[in-house]
Amino acid sequence: MNRITGTTQLLGVIGDPIKHSLSPVMHNAAIQHLGMDYVYVPFHIKAEDLEAAIAGFRAIGVQGFSITIPHKQAIIPLLSEVSEIAQFVGAVNTVWCTDKGWSGTNTDVAGFIAPLHAYNRDWSQTNVVILGCGGAARAVVVGCVQLGCKEIHVFARNWEKLEQFKESWEKVSLPVMINIHRWEKVTEFISDRTLLVNTTPVGMAPNIDQSPIDAAVMEQLSEGAITYDLIYTPNPTQFLRYAAQKQAITIDGLEMLVQQGAAALKIWLGKNPPVDIMRKSLQEHLGLVIEK
Ligand code: NAP
Repeated sequence: MNRITGTTQLLGVIGDPIKHSLSPVMHNAAIQHLGMDYVYVPFHIKAEDLEAAIAGFRAIGVQGFSITIPHKQAIIPLLSEVSEIAQFVGAVNTVWCTDKGWSGTNTDVAGFIAPLHAYNRDWSQTNVVILGCGGAARAVVVGCVQLGCKEIHVFARNWEKLEQFKESWEKVSLPVMINIHRWEKVTEFISDRTLLVNTTPVGMAPNIDQSPIDAAVMEQLSEGAITYDLIYTPNPTQFLRYAAQKQAITIDGLEMLVQQGAAALKIWLGKNPPVDIMRKSLQEHLGLVIEK
């Protein structure tokens, strides 16, 4: 455990619920490894208490904090500065203290793209397929734009929400074409040039036998494709197991979780975070058997 003294600085995560958050595990492992005088704690904050909680954080000298459901949008009006990336995503997941007040950004974008940098691709020729159009899908869109992807195909079960999703991007004029499709059309968009990203919770524990796309459609994948599941438990998901059977590249949500946390820690501490320590702490905490 980190040694808490009279000079220890406070970091944390706010959400409702919060007790299942994995962030304290990886952040405290990193802080301990770096030997820094900080501690990272979970705060269960209800929506109606958000404003009072943030004012209280300032009063007690909290240095920075992570934000999870349901506060990622509601926090925005309470900040004095919001990064351009967070404005594109429409959500903030990392806040830090400045002289002027609180500044916020969204490190899910950096977390999402970090594992993709390992693959030498012409991203402008990559066929991006995103399953789901909720909050995480927004970070995925911005990440794909940063990579240089030119065309994105989004699939979801609710057509009205898909249309709202597409319209929201028209207002911010990103250099990318966003197309929306009905779920059953996904089979027409899967090829060896696909980056296929699951942003739905389908397949998440305890429903570990489920996959957002069934085995027959996943058969269309081959070695050139990249499949990415934002879910981190189970690890791997059924979706990634199907992809691995076709020798497609697979990336799991644990890596995104670690990398978004590492990006936040770098902002708070101004040091390169020990990413391997953070990853290992989560793998141990979750009791994962490492197959790679
Ligand atoms: P969200 O805003 O609720 O969006 C979820 C999306 O999935 C919505 O489009 C939803 O459609 C769709 N969906 C839900 N159930 C479905 C089903 N049975 N069939 C088809 N579509 C379904 O949630 P989120 O914040 O984007 O999070 C989504 C997932 O990403 C979660 O599993 C979360 O844990 C994961 N995530 C991981 C990381 C990471 O660091 N690895 C970061 C962020 C999120 P409807 O609107 O029609 O319900």
